[in-house]
Amino acid sequence: MKNVPRVGFGYDIHRLTAGRPLILGGVRIDSDRGLLGHSDGDAVLHALADAIFGAIGVGDIGEHFPDSDVRNEGLDSRRIIGAALQETAAAGLIVQSVDVTILAERPKLGPVKEEIRRSLSDLLNLPLEAVGVKARTNEGLGPVGQQQAIACYAVVVVA
Ligand code: MG
Repeated sequence: MKNVPRVGFGYDIHRLTAGRPLILGGVRIDSDRGLLGHSDGDAVLHALADAIFGAIGVGDIGEHFPDSDVRNEGLDSRRIIGAALQETAAAGLIVQSVDVTILAERPKLGPVKEEIRRSLSDLLNLPLEAVGVKARTNEGLGPVGQQQAIACYAVVVVA
C-alpha cells in the first residue's frame, strides 16, 4: 500500500472581519480586514491540513485541533501543518505534491500568490514545482463574491 499514491482533498472558508490580520498560506497579507477564527484563521493551511489528514485517513482538523480547546486559541496554523506532517511521517508516508485554489474577491491575491507558493514549499519541504497556488475571485457571487469571506480548496498527493 505504501507505494500507492493517496489523494486527499480539503476545503475551508472563513469570514472576513475588521481588526484581524489576513494570513493565507502562512503569509501575512496587506489588508484592512482579516479572517475570523479560533486560530489565526488561515483558510489555506486549514484546507491543506484537512487534505493531508484525509490522505492518510486520520480524520479531520476539527478532531485534531478542536475549537473547544482553549490551547488552540490564536493558534499559528503552521503548527497544524506541522502536526499533519508528523502524522504523515509516522505512517511512513511523505507529502509529494499539493495544489490549492484560493477564492477571494478582495484583496486581489495575484500579486502575493508566488509568495504563498514559496511559503507552502518551505512549510511542506517540497520543491516549488510540486506546489500549485491559484487565486481567483468568485465573480461577485455568494459570500466570497460579496467580500464576506475567503475560501480555499486543496488537493494533496501522499505516497
Ligand atoms: Mg478553518
